[in-house]
Amino acid sequence: MALYVYKFGGTSVGTVEKIQKVAAKIKRARDKGHQIVVVVSAMSGETNRLVELAQHMQLHPNEREMDVLLSTGEQVTIALLSMALEALECEARSYTGGQIKILTDDSHTKARILKIDKERLHSDLLEGKVAVVAGFQGVTNEGAITTLGRGGSDTTAVALAAALEADECHIYTDVNGVYTTDPRVEPNAQKLDKITFEEMLEMASLGSKVLQIRAVEFAGKYNVALRVLSSFEAGNGTLITYDEESNMEQPLISGIAFNRDEAKITVAGVPDRPGIASKILSPIADNNIEVDMIIQNIALEGNNANFTFTVHRNDYDNALAILENMREALGAKEIKGSNKIVKVSIIGVGMRSHAGVAKKMFTALANENINIELISTSEIKISVLVHEKYLELAVRTLHSTFELDKIKT
Ligand code: ASP
Ligand code: MG
Repeated sequence: MALYVYKFGGTSVGTVEKIQKVAAKIKRARDKGHQIVVVVSAMSGETNRLVELAQHMQLHPNEREMDVLLSTGEQVTIALLSMALEALECEARSYTGGQIKILTDDSHTKARILKIDKERLHSDLLEGKVAVVAGFQGVTNEGAITTLGRGGSDTTAVALAAALEADECHIYTDVNGVYTTDPRVEPNAQKLDKITFEEMLEMASLGSKVLQIRAVEFAGKYNVALRVLSSFEAGNGTLITYDEESNMEQPLISGIAFNRDEAKITVAGVPDRPGIASKILSPIADNNIEVDMIIQNIALEGNNANFTFTVHRNDYDNALAILENMREALGAKEIKGSNKIVKVSIIGVGMRSHAGVAKKMFTALANENINIELISTSEIKISVLVHEKYLELAVRTLHSTFELDKIKT
């Protein structure tokens, strides 16, 4: 007998029939004698629909009210799923975040979980009941409803698994695991049986949408055994794990991530003197624009430098305008940029112990005449910025260069 936390995403509970299928799956696990806590998202599309409604009311909707609104999506699914379970004679009880007491801070729309009351859930489990918990929501000390940021149900599930010391946390979704890259871009993408927390965290941060970043961080920190599986297909999915050493032959690269939401800005011909980077980036940061890759190069003649950095595409126009306004104060010759670029990254703990991975990557891209505009690296990843027209070609080229179509995990 084991204790499992199962999380079902929006597409898995998107219709009445799907909710009934989910209920049957939960009942089968319960009938084997397992203790089950279920976390659900809102039915697919529902949270977006609610966001849109709010936008009719206020340009920047009040965040406290936004949370009251957004939390309703999950409240619908917990009730429907509990009914579906009861209809199968599987005793169940639904809980909102406030009822369990998933205590969070008061940063509305992006709250952090502080503490979880497990008494309620434990007593249900002991009575053989399935506890059905609303994902994505919590409550402040003062009793205000909060939400955890988009995709936050993953974090609810992992946090519950940590608090309850569950044997495993299963994230059921519309794909049957974590893939070497997005199969829509590279049809030869392979499902990974295992991936390390570190790699999964990079994948999530670099654009893979399978799991919410915070959920992976949380799972890594509390050592929650996390598995991504399909809601409706059989299979063991992908286990996200710590044991890097026990994998005798760690592949060089485990996956390729990409992000289409990139834009780059270059401040050209600025005087190369102390403080210039901070002068350029301070107004950007003051406007809450996040900067990702940064590169500064010095022109060989004269004493001028070019300073380039990337931002989210949504922030591109704003960032460009801010710097254009400051151009003279910065002493810059020109501010230019492009929002037609994408970031492609290779990720793998295996590259830690191998030299030459970067060379292999750059050579492969060069052979396809793909110009690299910016590079950034860490111990387990290499990211390049390329024109968006090369996205598919770059991903497929790297996928075959690193033999990910033949990966065995
Ligand atoms: N329903 C929320 C969203 O769409 C939370 C989640 O699905 O995890 O972001
Ligand atoms: Mg989700």
